[in-house]
Amino acid sequence: MDERHYITVEEEKAQQAKNAEAEGYPAFLRQWSIEEVPACDVGMHLLYAFANAQPAAFDLVKPRGFVADEPRLKNSPHWRAFADHVQTCPKCNEV
Ligand SMILES: [Zn+2]
Repeated sequence: MDERHYITVEEEKAQQAKNAEAEGYPAFLRQWSIEEVPACDVGMHLLYAFANAQPAAFDLVKPRGFVADEPRLKNSPHWRAFADHVQTCPKCNEV
C-alpha cells in the first residue's frame, strides 16, 4: 500500500499551522496601534512565533513592553530570537 496517497496527521497539522499563521498574524498585529507596535515586521513575526509557542510567557512580558533583557525567558529560543533581533535591528530601534 502506498501511504503517499493519504494525508498524514503530521501533514494535516502542518497545514493547519500554516493556515493559523496566515489568519492569525494580522489578528495578532491588531493588538497594537500603528504607533505602539513593539518591533518591525520581521521582529513581529518572531514575536508572533514566540506568542504561539509560549502563550503564558508572552502574557508575562506583554505588560512590560517586551523588554529584551528578560531573565525568566533566557532559555526560550523563541524569545531569544525576538530579543536578539530587536537589539540589533535598526528598524526596530527607530520605532
Ligand atoms: Zn526589526
